[in-house]
Amino acid sequence: MTQGFDTLQIHAGAEPDPATGARQTPIYQTTAYVFRDADHAAALFNLQEVGYIYSRLTNPTVSALQSRVAALEGGAGAVACSSGHAAQIMALFPLMGPGKNVVASTRLYGGTVTQLSNTIKRFGWSAKFVDTDDLDAVKAAIDDDTRAIFCETIANPGGYITDIDALAKIGDEAGIPLIVDNTSATPYLCRPIEHGATLVVHSLTKYLTGNGTVTGGIVVDSGKFDWSQNDKFPSLSQPEPAYHGLNFHGALGAMAFTFHGIAVGLRDLGMTLNPQAAHYTLMGIETLSLRMEKHVANAIKVAEWLEKDPRIEKVTYAGLKSSPYYDRIAKICPKGAGALFTFAVKGGYDACVKLVNELELFSHVANLGDTRSLIIHSASTTHRQLSDEQRAAAGADPNVVRVSIGTEDPADIIADLDQALAKATA
Ligand SMILES: *Cc1c(COP(=O)(O)O)cnc(C)c1O
Repeated sequence: MTQGFDTLQIHAGAEPDPATGARQTPIYQTTAYVFRDADHAAALFNLQEVGYIYSRLTNPTVSALQSRVAALEGGAGAVACSSGHAAQIMALFPLMGPGKNVVASTRLYGGTVTQLSNTIKRFGWSAKFVDTDDLDAVKAAIDDDTRAIFCETIANPGGYITDIDALAKIGDEAGIPLIVDNTSATPYLCRPIEHGATLVVHSLTKYLTGNGTVTGGIVVDSGKFDWSQNDKFPSLSQPEPAYHGLNFHGALGAMAFTFHGIAVGLRDLGMTLNPQAAHYTLMGIETLSLRMEKHVANAIKVAEWLEKDPRIEKVTYAGLKSSPYYDRIAKICPKGAGALFTFAVKGGYDACVKLVNELELFSHVANLGDTRSLIIHSASTTHRQLSDEQRAAAGADPNVVRVSIGTEDPADIIADLDQALAKATA
């Protein structure tokens, strides 16, 4: 990293506007871009010259965001898309094909478990779920058709920290990339590429935008994976029939994955982020480090308070000394374990439902990573579609609520929990 994180989160990707000098990145609310002449148009379509053609593919506001997140993650390039879930499909799309599989952590965001266990089957893809703490099980799950390993840095909602280095090493040995969903950690708390990850995916919807205004996603590529080391990734290492036979890796090197994502992925799947959303996310990222410091400081205070409270059975926050993952923080996310955790309430399912109803400062929503403190009873909402086993693996048992601790005054957050717990467990 050339400049510091606090500098990059404001300046990366955002030169003053070349047309007007506007200091803030304008929202380029345009669908198309005028070609200088027919030769210019041909050069753009051939990827011989980088420029703007049509906003399903590229847009200057979205490009600024892509450059900024790539810089913060230490990647070679990035492709923004319409949601976090779109980013996951966009990450897998160049790697997978009918009959191919991804080895995925059992401790993923509920929506991701559903996407990977059911929906991707329609493409002929499949997922093998394994406990990623069991490295032998990860190795055993990888077969000739495996094209990636998929995990989350800080798994939502169970308070797990993943040993990214260990999984990346297994991926390297098998000649396949590690994809890390870094949504809950953000590049401020963890940069998975520094731990060996090839691809990093984000839901921009969460901390990166930071205030609950945007649905968006992004895929960052490290640019370090050798797509031509084996014959597993023909879309990148061999002539791509979907782009007039271009060999992306041969022609574009470290930018192969990024260009394929735009020129084929966004072109044909169309999961494009709009410039207005990119603008909101750029605004959010300017204060990412400031917010994450406060989120983490508040989360520790609230988790410590809850852990001592007799109405609480258990708090799973990796930032607590009692957490089995506490030792991993120093290695994976030394600036803190995020602000997302779960706690189990004495009184089970009913007490959890009452707690959610009685809270006043907390919002009961299916979101996380907002400046506002948020709560959800995962078992009756986000993790409702999962089996009991999947719920238990994800840390979403019926007596458990998930909180996303905001940046309000911590005394107010604790006071709200205190009054609602009194009513819920009366
Ligand atoms: C929210 C979330 C997603 C999905 O992102 P959307 O923007 O809602 O599509 C994926 N992974 C994690 C960890 C998330 O928190």
